[in-house]
Amino acid sequence: GAEAVPDAVVVLQSDLSIVWCNQLALKVLGLQWPTDHGQRLDNLIREPKFAKYMLRGEFEEPLELDNGHIVDQVLEFRVMPYANTQLMVVVRDVTRLKQLEQMRKDFVANVSHELRTPLTVVTGYLEMMDGDMMPPPAMWNKAQNTMLEQCKRMDSLVNQLLSLSRIEGARRQDNDKAINVPQMLNYIKTEAQSINQDKGHELIFDIDNELDIKGSEDELRSAFSNLVFNAIHYTKAGGKIVVTWQRKEGLAHFSVNDNGDGIAPEHINRLTERFYRVDKARSRTTGGSGLGLAITKHVLTRHDSKLNISSELGKGSCFSFDFSKDKLVNLAT
Ligand code: ADP
Repeated sequence: GAEAVPDAVVVLQSDLSIVWCNQLALKVLGLQWPTDHGQRLDNLIREPKFAKYMLRGEFEEPLELDNGHIVDQVLEFRVMPYANTQLMVVVRDVTRLKQLEQMRKDFVANVSHELRTPLTVVTGYLEMMDGDMMPPPAMWNKAQNTMLEQCKRMDSLVNQLLSLSRIEGARRQDNDKAINVPQMLNYIKTEAQSINQDKGHELIFDIDNELDIKGSEDELRSAFSNLVFNAIHYTKAGGKIVVTWQRKEGLAHFSVNDNGDGIAPEHINRLTERFYRVDKARSRTTGGSGLGLAITKHVLTRHDSKLNISSELGKGSCFSFDFSKDKLVNLAT
């Protein structure tokens, strides 16, 4: 029976010497059989916290320990009386649970922090206007603009959070409608041109007008537009941005190339983490929340694709992805 459970199980005498263990205990705790038969478990698990816990003999609460044998693994030990005088130790790998718990905490902390910053600005201005004391008109104008900007930031953050949660909750079946991607990219191009007016980039869209795919329209729009708008935000005035949607080696290939800021290698693997930004202050001025690439990655996973990022600091970046043959619509293969 003990071999069938997904936990490591060790039976001990009251002096903590090992009577028996299952196969998983050999693997997880690094025990050796039959060599370790009769050895005290607190001599083999060389962690003072474990020895103390066993000695105290109060087992209502489980004990959590880092596994000395497997890097980054967290184990939960539960001990219960067994037969007349023996003890049974059940050891479970709780690494994933701990990671999820940490992710949840980080997520709440990040969201609160992101919302607090604009709220502090708005509250600050509102407090200045307390009672009959109205600021002079020039200052009031500035205050009004800043408050509006911060409210828009909060609105965009909440929308991105909702979009992330919608994507996470969406069913895979909703993912196979034929999408007119060239048309979608033309809309994105118009939007890009309008937000690009100040910077006057050279914007080139190289689109195959026959290339449609199956997917979820809202999700794909957000994946395509996040990459295009990022290129605009992180490329200096006068730079060049090339967006490509073409067939390539039988796949549908999308890429956004820019000759903008570029990204140092140590950041590249972390860009798709929620709220990760290379330069927080910089990205805030562009209205960025650090969720765009996390959303893009999620959308692509749901469409059996993945985001490729190559970049060189000071030279520019390329964000690209491919859709497999079975996602293509109306095309002679
Ligand atoms: P944000 O809302 O901050 O733009 P994203 O998740 O879209 O968040 O991007 C994460 C970070 O990746 C950005 O803050 C920026 O530092 C970096 N980044 C994204 N796209 C580019 C790009 N084309 N060039 C340079 N850096 C980029």
